[in-house]
Amino acid sequence: MTDIQKQACRIIYETYEHQQQIDKTIEEVAELQLVLIRLKDCETLEAQNEYITQLIDEIADVTIMIEQMKIAYGIDKKILDKKIQEKLNRQYDRIGRME
Ligand SMILES: [Mg+2]
Repeated sequence: MTDIQKQACRIIYETYEHQQQIDKTIEEVAELQLVLIRLKDCETLEAQNEYITQLIDEIADVTIMIEQMKIAYGIDKKILDKKIQEKLNRQYDRIGRME
């Protein structure tokens, strides 16, 4: 997400009520979950292709809402990046053990 997009997320977050944006985040995550379930259930690539546009749409929605939740709860970028790295390392170790 670009800095300009992050700024837009901040303006949007500050325009609405905090509780409203939490509810919106829950709603968007649920919509992404639903598209993933539908994609998983597709038996053909053609069927999957019908959901790819929806998947992109829902990933965009969730990305925007996650950015707003980072603003809402004052999530420190360094702490988040550190946590992401820890989880990637842990998963990478698991993959290594599987080989
Ligand atoms: Mg949505």
